Amino acid sequence: MERNYNFCAGPSTLPESVLKQAQAELLNWQGLGASVMEVSHRSKEFEAVVRNCENKMRSLLNIPENYKVLFLQGGGFGQFTMIPMNILGNKTQIDAIETGVWSGKALKAMAHHANINLVASTKETKFTTLPDLNALNFSKDSAFVHYCDNETINGVEFRAPLTECETPVVADMSSNILSRAFDVSKFGLIYAGAQKNIGPSGVTLVIVREDLLGQADPKTSDVFNYEVQAKNMSMINTPPTFSLYMIDLVLTWLQGQGGVEAIEKINAEKAAMLYGLIDDSDFYHNPVAIDARSRMNIPFTIANPELDPIFLAKAKEQGLINLEGHRSVGGMRASIYNAMPLEGVRALCEFMSDFEKQYG
Ligand SMILES: *Cc1c(COP(=O)(O)O)cnc(C)c1O
Repeated sequence: MERNYNFCAGPSTLPESVLKQAQAELLNWQGLGASVMEVSHRSKEFEAVVRNCENKMRSLLNIPENYKVLFLQGGGFGQFTMIPMNILGNKTQIDAIETGVWSGKALKAMAHHANINLVASTKETKFTTLPDLNALNFSKDSAFVHYCDNETINGVEFRAPLTECETPVVADMSSNILSRAFDVSKFGLIYAGAQKNIGPSGVTLVIVREDLLGQADPKTSDVFNYEVQAKNMSMINTPPTFSLYMIDLVLTWLQGQGGVEAIEKINAEKAAMLYGLIDDSDFYHNPVAIDARSRMNIPFTIANPELDPIFLAKAKEQGLINLEGHRSVGGMRASIYNAMPLEGVRALCEFMSDFEKQYG
């Protein structure tokens, strides 16, 4: 059976060459006569994997030296709790920006640790618009500002990061990290679950500025303590070794594509192609304001929602899978992360045009 084009929001499609390499060396990794899953995380071979992940991430994202790069467990969700545990310090307030489902979940979880000062919310527009980040008023009493750079479910993405802010900026980049270039030095902390643009699930990337460390509650367990993890190569205990190995391969693949600047151009082209088709048609519709649209997650509806199941079934017949919208919003959603090739988006667009001709 051939591989389908997989538009799943997460865990999501991986580069085919990466899967093939993993398959080829599965039984005998690095001549050890065992798979990467079956050797010690303290072996020199595996430690090299973790070092490679860090070094490649540093070079792909131009991460300054005064930032630590951690590979933790617990998912993006786990960070909603780990972040306040580690960087709240003696403050009792967090500035939060609500732009969709994920930033909403984050502020709800963080409210267990601090008072939430809601700086902006786009709930009134059903999360189809975005506030102007640099025009907001932040509180000097807050430990940090939290926002989500790309809302995976709602399909909104900030064009430019928050730069005019004195408090440290914390951003959830789970679904758009590595998809476009940005200046890490503007952030206090960036985090991302791996399963969208970095690799398989099981690993959470945390990039944290060093001066924010050392504030964790002394009762914090070492596994949840950024500073302790930073001193131990993120291996205070056994890490998800296979996921880290896969991340190393994905980052090598991305370097081979020309890095973040090169993939950003392809991502822009993919998104323009799909939005262009949607906007040129009265049959398909995307509800998001044009200047707030995500390049990674594109939700869309059909004029007659009774056609949704037919659309999904016919798409599947064409090898275009996992296009159903999130259960909370309905309709369809195409997630077109780094590993989705241009040809996959072209195939989707051709299918959508044909479907409109037949049913529109
Ligand atoms: C997927 C996702 C998360 C949660 O990831 P888990 O690893 O499942 O906890 C958080 N934020 C955003 C923006 C996401 O897309």
